[in-house]
Amino acid sequence: MSTNPQPCQEGARPLSPAEILLLDPATRACLWRSLIESLEEYVEGLRRRPIARPAPAEQVRAYVRGLDFERPVDPLETLRFVLEGFDRFHVHNAHPRYLGLFVPASSTMGVAADALAAAFNPVLAAWRLSPFAVEVERHLIARVAARFGFDPETSEGCFTCGGSEANHTALLVALSRAFPRWRSGGLRDLPGRPALYVSAEGHHSIAKAAVLCGLGAGAARPVAVDAELRLDAAALRRAIASDRAAGELPFLIVATAGTTSAGAVDPLAPLAEIARQEDLWLHADAAWGGAGVLLPELREAFAGIESADSITFDPHKWLSVPMAAGMFLTRHAGLLERTFQVDGPYMPPARGAGAPVDFYRSSMTWARRFTGLKLLMTLAVAGWRGYESIVRHQVVLGARLRERLAEAGFLVVNRTPLPVVCFVDALEGLADGALEEVAGRVVSEGRAWISTTRIGPLGSLVLRGAITSFHTTSEDVDAVVGTLADARRAVALARAGGRFRGPPARAADKEE
Ligand SMILES: *Cc1c(COP(=O)(O)O)cnc(C)c1O
Repeated sequence: MSTNPQPCQEGARPLSPAEILLLDPATRACLWRSLIESLEEYVEGLRRRPIARPAPAEQVRAYVRGLDFERPVDPLETLRFVLEGFDRFHVHNAHPRYLGLFVPASSTMGVAADALAAAFNPVLAAWRLSPFAVEVERHLIARVAARFGFDPETSEGCFTCGGSEANHTALLVALSRAFPRWRSGGLRDLPGRPALYVSAEGHHSIAKAAVLCGLGAGAARPVAVDAELRLDAAALRRAIASDRAAGELPFLIVATAGTTSAGAVDPLAPLAEIARQEDLWLHADAAWGGAGVLLPELREAFAGIESADSITFDPHKWLSVPMAAGMFLTRHAGLLERTFQVDGPYMPPARGAGAPVDFYRSSMTWARRFTGLKLLMTLAVAGWRGYESIVRHQVVLGARLRERLAEAGFLVVNRTPLPVVCFVDALEGLADGALEEVAGRVVSEGRAWISTTRIGPLGSLVLRGAITSFHTTSEDVDAVVGTLADARRAVALARAGGRFRGPPARAADKEE
């Protein structure tokens, strides 16, 4: 980063406690100015910078250890240290040619909101402590719930640090609904072992949540998927029946609305029907794909999500709100409080009938950042219409990516309306190692970013590209495909040549 803020403060005299942390007015003014200039410079220069540079762990550690905390450092010097760290050792996921996991560019209003949230520092635990902040989040929970087809009047929810915490919340709520004795007596008070069902393509946070709930990872049963990588309803019915026959206690079905690897949307309406018949909770993990409900043309893919009992949705994914912003939503009022209620002498007493429930009694956390503010400020300025146009633009770019890849001799192997494309090499049929090499070559040049993942019953390795940055244009998509085609050709040539020259020079390979 070319930014090199000049120190604004000279000399040393004893500082008051406030000056140590708040800094003096002149230094603050200088810091704010420098900070804002640096942010602006970053955004303006994003397209021209490499997405990532090599960052050997030893170099990064040595750089970070440059701060030893024995000697106070000038505020501007500290800012410079951090900017340089990001400059040298960071994957710039906001870059228009970053087609990796869902870590979008940050909305400007979201960045401003995060600064405001930090400055006012409300604690979201109780209404009485932060009436504005709590009502903002309640308003957002109702409006987002409505977009998913829930009744905003009776829906409840909470902001979380992401989809993982929201999924964990879903497991806890489903447990407390299915087993009223669990809250006081724990799992050993139950007449059997609870079981839940999630597609084999589902997110790993479900198994992790099962561990965190004390159920054990094995309680999360991976259910087979169909040819389009969607949870197979017939296999689900069989799994539930065989668990019941064995004395296990099914309590939850997790439908994934937009799988992380391949964007598969499970058949939500049939799963809702099974959940109703079997008296199980249906949770829709729509962490990323959920924004698809904003588009009428995707309504069919998400049909039935309004019948889910609860939903995970991450504004920090497709809505481009800075991390960490997740949401848990449920259309059943009262269950969050039944799950999380606690009392303590230093906590505000439970409020009267009709008053909103304090978040500390209806979520996992006590002190928590004002996460909703970045969604509020971004949504206020973009409006739902603005978001619809962004999501539509990215869906169209996803389709373009699919077409360009096919033209360039790649075989697209996933089917989804969402902008994530899994593909392999159609002509050479390059083996797994070669696909990793292709991805590695693309990434190492810093001009584009794609990843690999494994999908399907055989866990087949594929290349994966997703449209996640609102900076991405159709030219960027074409350029990334060009970079991929070059990388594929280079890898294929090196491999073909290698067959005549004997084994490749391993040591040289490693150095790259
Ligand atoms: C990203 C993702 C999660 C996890 O969300 P975090 O915000 O990263 O905790 C869960 N489920 C799905 C389907 C996801 O794509």
